[in-house]
Amino acid sequence: MPKAVAGPEIERLIQLLARLPGLGPRSARRAALHLIKKREQLMTPLADALAVARQKIVVCTTCGSIDTRNPCTVCTDPRRDASLIVVVADVADLWALERAGALNARYHVLGGTLSPLDGVGPQDLTIEALVSRAHGEEVKEVILALSATVDGQTTAHYITDLLQDAHVRVTRLAHGVPVGGELDYLDEGTLSAAIRQRTPI
Ligand code: ZN
Repeated sequence: MPKAVAGPEIERLIQLLARLPGLGPRSARRAALHLIKKREQLMTPLADALAVARQKIVVCTTCGSIDTRNPCTVCTDPRRDASLIVVVADVADLWALERAGALNARYHVLGGTLSPLDGVGPQDLTIEALVSRAHGEEVKEVILALSATVDGQTTAHYITDLLQDAHVRVTRLAHGVPVGGELDYLDEGTLSAAIRQRTPI
């Protein structure tokens, strides 16, 4: 075991930082040192922000997203189109879609995807709440923005069946060539999906 270069408090800080996604032990050390050097400008405000967020974080009972208010910021934004619900597996997917800025919609966060192998069934996800939302008068379309994996597609089919008698259009994301992607590098599954879902120019 390597010798410690700092007291246990700093070692603990490094260990905790190393658990963050995208930070390995080396970058965790760099981040810890940066925080220590910038105590006033960064470490103190960060510690305060963490403490406040920890107290206030709630799950939105309407859409399943995470926020510091319930109903959440997205659900209560009057500028969003209430006729459109985008279904995602996780809050990270919601944030990713919002970064893309292609939609002005409400969301529904499932909390995962159906996975018989991992023992994730419909009762573990917010599917029931989604079905009742989809029956709401103002809802016209439900977009299933789920991963192109077996579990993602199983979940999409399951939800589509349940939405049969709701008066909504059920759509899903297109599968195909990524923007900036070279055909030569794509796998056969992606290429054949792109051919099947070709669109007129
Ligand atoms: Zn919400």
